[in-house]
Amino acid sequence: MTANSNLTQDGKLTCTQCKHINPSYHTHCEKCGARLSLMAISTSAPPKIAVRKVSDAKPIELTPMSHLLCGWPFILVIIGGAIGGALGGLAYAINVAIYKSDLPGFLKIGLNLIVGFMAIGTWIVIAVAITQK
Ligand SMILES: [Zn+2]
Repeated sequence: MTANSNLTQDGKLTCTQCKHINPSYHTHCEKCGARLSLMAISTSAPPKIAVRKVSDAKPIELTPMSHLLCGWPFILVIIGGAIGGALGGLAYAINVAIYKSDLPGFLKIGLNLIVGFMAIGTWIVIAVAITQK
């Protein structure tokens, strides 16, 4: 037995022999008498199952070395006191966020340096502003 129909979007059976659209409760085509079968659905329109790849990536844990790399702007504490420490802490927090992101390694290193130098640059601006008063 061959499947002679396709289910249309509004639930009607289309005869594959004569293209006549039959009500879905019909077992045989009104026009040509060919047997209508719902089996055609499975071959003409396979169910699309969207398989989402579940990320099995482990959360990135920071090693002592990466803490050191993220925290290098803390050198500001030594020369910059409280303001330097605050900026160093901010840079450290940003660097940790960058480190834990999905960015490629070279970008992480580049941003890590930029964040650190921006913290140092900000500290210099503040230090100059304070000392010039
Ligand atoms: Zn027909």
